[in-house]
Amino acid sequence: MSEEYHYDLVVVGGGPAGSSAAYSAAKNGIKVALLEKENTIAETVRTSGVTWIQNIKEFGIPDDCFNPIKNFSFCSPNNEVTISDTIPRAAVLDVRKTYRWLANEAENAGADIFVKMNIKNVIENEKGDIVGVTGIGPKGETTFHAKVVIDASGFPSTVCKAMGLAPQWERFGAGAEYEMIAENVDSETWWLMVGQEYSPAGYAWIFPLGNNIVRIGVGVGKPESNVDPTQRLKEIIEKKLGPIKKLGKLTEIEFHYGLIPNDGLSRKTVFNNLILVGDSAGQANPLVLEGIRYAIKFGRVAGKVASDAIKSGNTEKKSLYPYEENWRKSIESKINSASKVQDRWIGLTDEEWDKELDIINELKPEEFMDFIKADFGLSNMIKLATHHPKLVVRQLFNLVKGKK
Ligand SMILES: Cc1cc2nc3c(=O)[nH]c(=O)nc-3n(C[C@H](O)[C@H](O)[C@H](O)COP(=O)(O)OP(=O)(O)OC[C@H]3O[C@@H](n4cnc5c(N)ncnc54)[C@H](O)[C@@H]3O)c2cc1C
Repeated sequence: MSEEYHYDLVVVGGGPAGSSAAYSAAKNGIKVALLEKENTIAETVRTSGVTWIQNIKEFGIPDDCFNPIKNFSFCSPNNEVTISDTIPRAAVLDVRKTYRWLANEAENAGADIFVKMNIKNVIENEKGDIVGVTGIGPKGETTFHAKVVIDASGFPSTVCKAMGLAPQWERFGAGAEYEMIAENVDSETWWLMVGQEYSPAGYAWIFPLGNNIVRIGVGVGKPESNVDPTQRLKEIIEKKLGPIKKLGKLTEIEFHYGLIPNDGLSRKTVFNNLILVGDSAGQANPLVLEGIRYAIKFGRVAGKVASDAIKSGNTEKKSLYPYEENWRKSIESKINSASKVQDRWIGLTDEEWDKELDIINELKPEEFMDFIKADFGLSNMIKLATHHPKLVVRQLFNLVKGKK
């Protein structure tokens, strides 16, 4: 049996990017289908869910979707620093609740959500432009015709790969994480753990969710290291390394695993009738490999631009280009600077990490937030220059420029 549908816009992938694109496009009055291959939205969690309260508020995400974080602790093999803020500015999301809220927003705005819809291929017109997608749904082979398709399928980038528009990511992060109940948790403090024993090219983390629940994870940069993050995670939990010891008895709730692109902003993101957004566009802050806020923000922009183009009757690349212009203006230079810092971090020895933490310790909480969020604008750097002794400032500038 086969099924066939006709929509103005088809969005492939029901993650934060896809739901946000479907929401803004449906709100703009066009006919939208959101296609997700899993049984439900956010059935599998592939992320740690750290983000920033300012962004959460901008997006309108409800308060019961996150645990606020006020203290930022770091440890290296022989050093430990904590930057304490007066108010919480970071948050650990309840990922399922948040992603389902985003999908509900899309549905309430009028989008049709299809779950168990695994998209495998594309339909092209005689010019080679995309005009739909095909896949396997609950009733078998299913075809969706569309004026515009948004590829929000995340790391696999299903649509753009089927179109032959981009190769698989070469550089990426692989992360493994246990969500666990812990005996002793400070629910306002996160931990980032660096050095060879935690991760030879990346970092480990403890992110509290409230109610004595924590996410403990390990991220490893590929191809820089061949360490298996799952294996390394088991080892550091077994050894109760560093701050893991303080958590006391740990009981597993569930395991998460995911991949995130780290090739910089290497892809074009608009083509005739096609937009890439979120991880499929490589839109992540490479410093800590966080992409949720970009997925939501640029998902909404993609949905708006696509729906405006559809309404205007012209969905060629030029009509969709305001989307690419928007996100490049907003994050391109920040991400390029953050990539330089990340390149430096990946090469640090344990002793160098011990010293790096002393530099981080010089930062005021708001400066630390700018830094970790990769908000390296000129005004932020000038603020740093006025607040810090010369030598430290030089080190910070050099970090951003990627010099030793
Ligand atoms: C281990 C790890 C930890 C992370 N931690 C953080 C963090 O703390 N904070 C942060 O901001 N970011 C973090 N990230 C990154 C963040 O998860 C991503 O940037 C974000 O999820 C991107 O959203 P997306 O919607 O583009 O993709 P995804 O969230 O990957 O969503 C893609 C969706 O598409 C669906 N899909 C895929 N293929 C198909 C198909 N063929 N047909 C139909 N549906 C399909 C998938 O099932 C999925 O639901 C982390 C990533 C990893 C791997």
